Amino acid sequence: MSYRPVITNMEEASSNEKSGLYEFILYLADGTVCRASYSRSPEWKMTNINRLQKTPCPVCRKDFICKCIESYKGELEQQINENQWIGKALAK
Ligand SMILES: [Zn+2]
Repeated sequence: MSYRPVITNMEEASSNEKSGLYEFILYLADGTVCRASYSRSPEWKMTNINRLQKTPCPVCRKDFICKCIESYKGELEQQINENQWIGKALAK
């Protein structure tokens, strides 16, 4: 488990301001693309993340559904906070 995801871009995929639920697309440096679900209130919190099956999983190399990326949820969320990706994604 030496994989270290690095976020290179993040885009808003969908949002529902009334319910405070958002979806973002995360682009990682190795070409992996993920979709992250967020809840905005009381504070921004990642509720779910899954890999979009455009490229094989960077961890197990499978090209079908796996749950590997879920174990990096905390690390990805930390990167998003440190680099203020949510603000950047919503500003676009
Ligand atoms: Zn995997």
